[in-house]
Amino acid sequence: MDSAAALTQVEERIARACTIAKREREEVNLIAVSKTHPVDRIEPVLEAGQRLFGENRVQEAQDKWPTLREQYPDVELHLIGQLQSNKAEDAAALFDVIHSLDRPSLLKALAKAYDKLGRRVLCFIQVDVGEEDQKGGCAIADLPALIDQAREAEIPLLGLMCIPPADKEPAPFFALLGELAKRHEPKPGAWGLSMGMSSDYETAIMLGATHIRVGSALFGERG
Ligand SMILES: *Cc1c(COP(=O)(O)O)cnc(C)c1O
Repeated sequence: MDSAAALTQVEERIARACTIAKREREEVNLIAVSKTHPVDRIEPVLEAGQRLFGENRVQEAQDKWPTLREQYPDVELHLIGQLQSNKAEDAAALFDVIHSLDRPSLLKALAKAYDKLGRRVLCFIQVDVGEEDQKGGCAIADLPALIDQAREAEIPLLGLMCIPPADKEPAPFFALLGELAKRHEPKPGAWGLSMGMSSDYETAIMLGATHIRVGSALFGERG
């Protein structure tokens, strides 16, 4: 199946999940995760009307997106992968949303980059809901302090993000992320939830996801 046809299928499943969850389709942002896929695989999805894309490496996004953006200036680029502090300025210059703010050192690097560039990119704080260190994410116990630091540094927060453990049922982790957002958001409904991937985005929509990150269901398996 080509990726434009896959997009139609994913859109149908999103619409169905929204109907069941009694949510509006506009409440759910589909981020097409194009990491590892070359420009000629991304173009058909752009031509089909998709405008939100996710990449997990700064360098790869710098190689692929500046030329695509000349053709499609309304593209919104999301950084979904772990970010090293020494890449913070490059990330802030290129991306529209960063989903992986997870520690004070990165927060400081981003704040410095924002001041220098005069541009304040929206961030999700990534939470380590499964308590598995290797995927990054802020420990739940450290979340209140990180949120306070973000406010002090004027890092605009869009909400919380998670990647549940691959070998476990994701729903409890999605529900937990929703609870954490409720507890910490500045006012009810202010924050979004970045959660759900190819294998579980419908479950995530049922549990309040506002940003789903879908790769292989659109582009096929990564090589
Ligand atoms: C790769 C990736 C995705 C997409 O995963 P699929 O299973 O291919 O949909 C989503 N989120 C993050 C953080 C990723 O790294």
